Amino acid sequence: MRKAAVVGAGTMGNGIAHVFAQSGWEVALIDVAQPALDRGMATIRGNLDRQVKKGTVTAAQADEVMGRISPHLSLDAAAPAEVVIEAASERPDIKFSLFEQLDRIANPAAILATNTSSISITEIAARTRRPGQVIGMHFMNPVPVMQLVEVIRGHATTDATAAWTMETSRALGKIPVEVNDYPGFVSNRVLMPMINEAIFCVMEGVATPESIDTVMKLGMAHPMGPLALADFIGLDVCLAILEVLHKGLGDDKYRACPLLRRMVAAGHLGRKSGRGFYEYAK
Ligand code: NAD
Repeated sequence: MRKAAVVGAGTMGNGIAHVFAQSGWEVALIDVAQPALDRGMATIRGNLDRQVKKGTVTAAQADEVMGRISPHLSLDAAAPAEVVIEAASERPDIKFSLFEQLDRIANPAAILATNTSSISITEIAARTRRPGQVIGMHFMNPVPVMQLVEVIRGHATTDATAAWTMETSRALGKIPVEVNDYPGFVSNRVLMPMINEAIFCVMEGVATPESIDTVMKLGMAHPMGPLALADFIGLDVCLAILEVLHKGLGDDKYRACPLLRRMVAAGHLGRKSGRGFYEYAK
């Protein structure tokens, strides 16, 4: 059986483990915190149960998928993997340290992928002795549902690594798109300025959040308005990505809206805090 390791059992990590296991891979799901591992495994079980209810998998298949995923607290569990997908917290110090360790632990032939939304693949790869085998594999949330994988080539990523990642993403039932390593890649470079501009519209009193979202949903056929989407992503995450774009591209058109900064400072982070541009039942 093909073996993968997923580092980080949070929102993205448990979804990535789910998708690999559903495609027949044996998956080691690794986190530093036991409660995070427990929550991650419970989330996968809950999502599989929903798939059973919908009739997209049988109860027996769901049990098989669950049986292929094992939770671990040590990175050593990544040793036998053909690919390691890192989905730990979005902090450069954490990612750099993880890739230094994974480079020592993982099979020398293994590909080391990161699900980062904004940290440079090239800088992460430079922490390893195998920069040619390091690549961005940017899944979208929720991973079992969303089709796209943004495959990001770092400066040193080899053609073989990119081809392997494209092919593997397709085998997982996803649609991969290859892009190069510049701040925000494509997804966040295009999305975040739109969200930021919508926040400027709120700040300047151009329209209410509901009106702005309605314009974009009905007028541009977006399934979700930019402010509802910002609440879903997390306003702190949006701010962090805008900072990466502003610093990395050096253009003031990426400066974060002061209202976004104020809301983050107030702890109004969107869905996860119960309040952002909209209110959510806790
Ligand atoms: P999350 O906070 O839900 O989960 C992160 C997990 O990483 C936590 O369980 C934490 O305990 C664990 N962790 C922290 N340090 C670790 C370490 N050294 N070793 C092992 N585990 C460690 O975060 P998330 O939303 O799942 O995001 C994970 C990554 O995916 C980030 O790089 C993020 O930018 C990216 N991403 C997130 C989304 C999204 O919508 N949430 C979408 C695309 C990409």
